[in-house]
Amino acid sequence: MKKTTGMDRAATANWRPATKALRGGTWRSEHGETSEALFLTSGYTYDDAQTVADRFAGSAQGMTYSRLQNPTVAMLEERIALMEGAEACRTQASGMAAMTAALLCQLSAGDHVVAARAAFGSCRWLCDNLLPKFGIDVSIIDSADNAAWEAAIRPNTKVFFFESPANPTLDIVDLAHVCSLARAHGITTVVDNAFASPVLQRPMEFGADVVAYSATKLMDGQGRVLAGAICASKQWIDEVLMPFQRNTGPTLSAFNAWVVLKGLETLPMRAFAQSRSAVELGEFLEPRVLAAGGHLRHPGLPSHARHDLARAQMDATGPIFAFDVGTRARAFAVLDALKLIDISNNIGDARSLMCHPASTTHANMTEEARAAMGVSEGLLRINVGLEDIADLTEDMDQALAAAGM
Ligand SMILES: *Cc1c(COP(=O)(O)O)cnc(C)c1O
Repeated sequence: MKKTTGMDRAATANWRPATKALRGGTWRSEHGETSEALFLTSGYTYDDAQTVADRFAGSAQGMTYSRLQNPTVAMLEERIALMEGAEACRTQASGMAAMTAALLCQLSAGDHVVAARAAFGSCRWLCDNLLPKFGIDVSIIDSADNAAWEAAIRPNTKVFFFESPANPTLDIVDLAHVCSLARAHGITTVVDNAFASPVLQRPMEFGADVVAYSATKLMDGQGRVLAGAICASKQWIDEVLMPFQRNTGPTLSAFNAWVVLKGLETLPMRAFAQSRSAVELGEFLEPRVLAAGGHLRHPGLPSHARHDLARAQMDATGPIFAFDVGTRARAFAVLDALKLIDISNNIGDARSLMCHPASTTHANMTEEARAAMGVSEGLLRINVGLEDIADLTEDMDQALAAAGM
C-alpha cells in the first residue's frame, strides 16, 4: 500500500470538511486506483516467520487478521476520525455493536452510569436491561435538565451516556455543560451522535470523550448497510476499547466499510440539503399539527425548547423531526395515506421515510417508559430525504387531509 496524503494526518488535518469527507483516509495500492480498494480477505501472509512474530508482539506494524485490521476498514476509520477531529476511530458491525462496545469495554460490576431518558429503544434496552444484569447501576434522567445530570452523580459514576438530538423526541443536550461537568468529576462521556453525523455536530469540540455512531444512518445515507463507529483519544481506543473489541469481535466487514466510504463522499452535501428540507417541511406541517391539537418537535424551529442551543452547537439541525397527531389510529391513517414518502423505520437515508416509534423503534419498552420519554401513541417520526421539497409537501398535505387534519 502506498501512503497517500489521505493517510497523512499532518496534511489532512487542515483540509476543509468536504475535502476530508471525500479524500480523508485514502490509501492506494501499487496500482494507484482512484476509488478505495475493497480488500475481501480474512487473513494475511508473511515473507518470514519473524515478521509475523514481530507483528503479534506489537514491535512491528502490519496487518495480522481482519478481526483486528483490514486495509479497507482502516481507510474508513481514518476518514471518520479526521471528520470528527478525533485522534482515533474504530468501526463496528452496527450502531448497536458500537454502543454496546463503548459501554461494556469500560464498565465493571459496581460502577454507575447516568443515561438520558430520551434515547433510541435499543440504547435504552442496554441501560434498562443489559447493564443492570452485570451489576452496573443506571440512573435514567431528563437529559434536557442541566441540574439533573449533577444531581445524579455518585462516587462510583463512571459514564454519562446520551444522544443529542435524541431518537425520536429530538431532545437536545447542553453538550458544553454536561461534558465539562463530567470532566470535573472524572466521568467519561459517551455521546451517540447518530442523528447529527460529524458534519453537523462534533461533540468533542464541547469536551466529549467518546463519540459513537450508527454509520447505518447519515454516513451510509443510502439505506444499504449496517455499520458503527467509535471515536476517542488514541490511548482510550488502544487501551480501553481494543482489548474488548479484538477479543469479542464486533468487527465491521470490509464490504460494508467500503460502502460507507462511498457514502461519506457525499455526506456534507446530503446532510445540509436534507436539513434545509426538514426545516421547510416542518414549517409547513407545524400550523396544521397545532390546529389539530398536536405538537411538533424540530430543533431547527423556534418552537423547540432548545432551538437556540441546537443552532449554537450544530452546523445544521439534521433531517429528522417528530410530530404528534393525537392517537395511534390517526398516526396509522397518516402513514397509510402516504403516496411518495415510504413507511420505514430507518433514518438518515436519501429517501424520505416515516414511522410510528411506539409500535416500531420503541416497541420493546413499556408503555409507561415510552410515555415518560415523550414517545406518545400519536407520535410520528420523519426522515426528510433529497426529493424535491414541493413533492414532499404535496404528499404530506394529502396524507394529513386523508387523516382528517
Ligand atoms: C439507529 C440508531 C442506533 C442503532 O444503530 P444500528 O446501526 O441500527 O445498530 C443507535 N442509536 C441511534 C440514535 C440510532 O438512531
